[in-house]
Amino acid sequence: MGVPRLYCDCGVCTEARDTGMNRRLRSSLHIWDEEAGHIWIDCGPDFGEQLEAAKLREIDTLLITHAHFDHIGGLVEWADACRWQQKKGIAYAPTEVIPEILARFPWLSSHIDFRAFDESIKLGKWKVFSWRVHHGKNGYAYAFRFEHLETGCKWVYCSDSIGLTGEQQKPLVDLDLLVLGTSFYHEPFAYETRSVYDVLEALELIHKWKPKQTVLTHMSHDIDLRKQYGLPEQVVLAVAGMTIEM
Ligand SMILES: [Zn+2]
Ligand SMILES: [Zn+2]
Repeated sequence: MGVPRLYCDCGVCTEARDTGMNRRLRSSLHIWDEEAGHIWIDCGPDFGEQLEAAKLREIDTLLITHAHFDHIGGLVEWADACRWQQKKGIAYAPTEVIPEILARFPWLSSHIDFRAFDESIKLGKWKVFSWRVHHGKNGYAYAFRFEHLETGCKWVYCSDSIGLTGEQQKPLVDLDLLVLGTSFYHEPFAYETRSVYDVLEALELIHKWKPKQTVLTHMSHDIDLRKQYGLPEQVVLAVAGMTIEM
């Protein structure tokens, strides 16, 4: 939902309203690549605000991980922008995700060209793979692995996952960068009611997968950036607008 949450008066939401260190929008990622241009991962309801903050008015390619509102709610705004710019947006999503999106917003295909993204696609010099991951109580999502054809740089975006099988963990090793979703520091609720890893679980996985660098994203109002969590130095909490050079 982003931070602050409308109903909430907790310390983190109050700080987010008053000074804004913990102000967080829905998870999204902007990739700038010389050849492929502006690639955007996921299009939540904050999409317009995020684009403006990046000083952009349009993008070249959108990649979609799954059809939950925090990842697709901004498609309506993007479709409207495409309509008025008289162009058709290009969005890649796994085959099973496309009808789910169109069931919610049937008019989008007039302005957005949805293309199947089931195995791999090439964007500039990046080869990008998608694979299905467990999303706990919320069903499934997809994660994306990027491999640069010249430099060999490898990184993964996996915003919504929990309880990954051995097979689903295979693409998560040998990474220069991992972007992993964690909603809580330690989520106290029963496992069967949960849908995203927490920070403590992520630290165990990072120990196992050994990415060179990790950024934790998709964080709720449970995470307070004023606190010292004692994270290893190669693990950081995402903040809105942070940039990473690969
Ligand atoms: Zn709160
Ligand atoms: Zn999500």
